[in-house]
Amino acid sequence: MSAPRVSHFIGGRKVPAASGEWLENRNPATGQILSLLARGAKSDIHSAVENAKAAFPAWAARSPEERSKLLSKIADLIEARELSFAEAESRDQGKPVALARRMDIRRVVQNFRFFAGAILHHENESTQTDQHTLNFVMRRPHGVCGLISPWNLPLYLLSWKIAPAIACGNTVVCKPSEFTSMTADLLADVLNEAGLPAGVVNIVYGLGPEAGEALVRHPDVPVISFTGGTATGRHIIEASAEQFKKLSLELGGKNPNILFNDCDLDKAVATTLRSSFLNQGEICLCGSRIYVEESLFERFMEKFVAEVKRLKVGDPADEGTFMGPLVSQAHLEKVNSFIAQARAEGGKIWTGGDTPALTSEFAGGYWLSPTVISGLPESSRCIQEEIFGPVVTVSTFKNVDEVLGYANGVKYGLSASVWTQDVTKALRVSSGLHAATVWVNSWLERDLRVPFGGQKASGLGREGGRHSIEFYTEATNVCVRY
Ligand code: NAD
Repeated sequence: MSAPRVSHFIGGRKVPAASGEWLENRNPATGQILSLLARGAKSDIHSAVENAKAAFPAWAARSPEERSKLLSKIADLIEARELSFAEAESRDQGKPVALARRMDIRRVVQNFRFFAGAILHHENESTQTDQHTLNFVMRRPHGVCGLISPWNLPLYLLSWKIAPAIACGNTVVCKPSEFTSMTADLLADVLNEAGLPAGVVNIVYGLGPEAGEALVRHPDVPVISFTGGTATGRHIIEASAEQFKKLSLELGGKNPNILFNDCDLDKAVATTLRSSFLNQGEICLCGSRIYVEESLFERFMEKFVAEVKRLKVGDPADEGTFMGPLVSQAHLEKVNSFIAQARAEGGKIWTGGDTPALTSEFAGGYWLSPTVISGLPESSRCIQEEIFGPVVTVSTFKNVDEVLGYANGVKYGLSASVWTQDVTKALRVSSGLHAATVWVNSWLERDLRVPFGGQKASGLGREGGRHSIEFYTEATNVCVRY
């Protein structure tokens, strides 16, 4: 049977790449070809931008209420097809179907539903300077926004961009990751079925340096919202600087989980298990550096390592599976190279670092057991650089100042998790962390109104709730003397 072909979605129609070329997309669990993707390039991006430009005036002129109704309809249609979206995401990315349903597709529905509501309730500020001077802010959509997303939470992150952008009256050209485009293709069908006007959302598939780069450099795309690696983010800043594009960059992380000896150890271990290995550790917010107060180290390791060994790695279609394969052969090799370096540096591998034993069906897949390493110096590449896989390091600390030094001693500043029963200590540590999100006695709790983004090399700008509405609109301050 030949692999299904995934064509671009331009002007409401599925069209192949202008070049006629296709890219192979593999199922990470088996290594088999899953689909062929249209290989987008400059001419495809140009055609998508032209369609988005043509659709913009009528879409921007629609009332927020009309746009809101369409977003709600999109949410309802995706919710009704939750299982088929989750299965497609699992085959494409490797994550368990159960997780895709519970986390990814649920959040996609929330993204559309949330911004359907938010756009109806957004209020612009006004200030009265004195008795005769009034300032108020007017907002209008930018035009065509370029939305570029990664492979780890494919439709979750793409819809977190599409929903606010179109709710505000923009039209968009999306470039999903070349590794995970299947759910974007399903979304295209839903958008047509919901009655979204042709050209409001366009999707071009393909490689970053080809389709992605063409979108970033296109002169008629004033806004780029990008989620992906820090090196790509830096490149996008440089490539778009000449045109002064408005950028939102959500980049990599190397997030610390800090456990004090007064924490609720059972809860801390249960959550640290998820923050280390959920989605194969392929979440930008995963806590990949675990810092444990010295006096807690032995008790923590005993419980944590025993639980890690019990995690079920295997068939993503099985309801009880916790972890599937990594996204690609190249990514598996990259993650393995970090483990090899940790071994060379004298790190202790408590569990993992090998390929899990699976049936022959999965022999060609990109598998790695969850891996726990300790005994590395803070300068180790495994502690300083984002691994983005099921690998965590564990280190000890003596006091608050020491652990803050370690936690802040990397170039990233995305998130952190702090475990203690002492509220004063929790607040002191939170205020000392250079991280954009700090969870206390929790992890990955998300309220879509909260500003989300990174500090330092983890990104530029904030999205979420009104922050997204502000990002996807241009503000004019009008000052009236009367
Ligand atoms: P990546 O940077 O390799 O690719 C991301 C997207 O950018 C893909 O669609 C890719 O095709 C495109 N791209 C690549 N080169 C490009 C170029 N020159 N011009 C324009 N587009 C280009 O990242 P990835 O490997 O897909 O994703 C993993 C990274 O994403 C990790 O670093 C992770 O931490 C980060 N991430 C961050 C967040 C966050 O919210 N901060 C969320 C998820 C993932």
